[in-house]
Amino acid sequence: MHAIQVAKTGCPEVLTLVDVPTPKPAAGQVLVRHTAIGVNYIDTYHRKGMYPVPLPFVLGNEAAGMVEAVGEGVKDVAVGQRVAYYTTQLGAYAEYAAVPADKLIPLPDHISDQQAAAVLLQGMTAHYLAFTVYPIRPSDTVLVHAGAGGVGLLLTQIARRRGARVITTVSTADKAELSRANGADEVIIYTKTDFAEAVKALTGGQGVHAVYDGVGKDTFEGSLNSLRPLGMMASYGSASGQVPPVALTELMRRGSLVLTRPSLGHFIATRSALLERAGAIFNWVASGELNVLIQPPYSLADAAQAHRDLEGRGTTGKLILVP
Ligand code: NDP
Repeated sequence: MHAIQVAKTGCPEVLTLVDVPTPKPAAGQVLVRHTAIGVNYIDTYHRKGMYPVPLPFVLGNEAAGMVEAVGEGVKDVAVGQRVAYYTTQLGAYAEYAAVPADKLIPLPDHISDQQAAAVLLQGMTAHYLAFTVYPIRPSDTVLVHAGAGGVGLLLTQIARRRGARVITTVSTADKAELSRANGADEVIIYTKTDFAEAVKALTGGQGVHAVYDGVGKDTFEGSLNSLRPLGMMASYGSASGQVPPVALTELMRRGSLVLTRPSLGHFIATRSALLERAGAIFNWVASGELNVLIQPPYSLADAAQAHRDLEGRGTTGKLILVP
């Protein structure tokens, strides 16, 4: 089968299309033939070696497709069934992957394979951030960075569903328009304006109840400065680089702030949590309550270009690959 392999970490050019043996499903696994593969920012961290993985490896955590074969002991999954998955085990940038059966989500008829590969990981992330990390209340004002990105667009809509006033940041006027169209009450172009000052001005000097920050290094300080006393900072990603170590006394000095660094895997660790979050997201997509912006698919062979575009800040919504 074709797969995108990383034999040495580095820039997008290290992504190489190779022929490798099609995996065989071991006991408890299912072989999935991919029809759509999700591109996520974490893929760039793996590619660069920021999150080290033994070399060589096939990239990717998320895909949708059809069950091709089942391993020993697998029940309740049938050959031919449409499924999607997210797993921390890599290997999704390929025509096939052998995936633990308990990570599969059966796809309802009203969700396409491309929608599933586009929304599963980022949608469940937005879900746990808005419902569990900082459970948003209707009277809250929250700040969502990179509001036109994959997670950003979904989180903005979900935060609005929960009744919050949502302030977002984006880098361009076009992205600002898109963010507004997806529910942002206020949008700050953080490449032109000091966003912490703008947030203070928009909140009568008080600051927001929670900041959802997937940008990391460049926004961290400003995010803490955007919070009101007792506010919560969810630092959930590092698109601009990793956040340096933080002195705990800084949290006290700025008003007994709460800081957390969450990761999706811990919020879908049980089968019931996985099904609950995935089910909620797919239901909202099917009913039209959650809009998923999917860019025209890249071919699997063009994975490097997808990475260049994602890291170049030129993209909005979700990028997917098709084998
Ligand atoms: P996005 O589509 O949001 O792309 C990243 C965006 O970050 C860019 O479009 C850009 O938006 C913004 N950005 C700001 N500074 C930079 C920079 N220096 N270089 C590149 N981009 C920058 O990606 P995803 O939706 O896939 O992921 C968003 C974040 O969420 C990532 O940090 C990712 O790792 C994290 N994540 C974390 C999870 C978790 O459980 N902890 C799970 C899923 C994702 P703009 O141009 O508007 O500034």
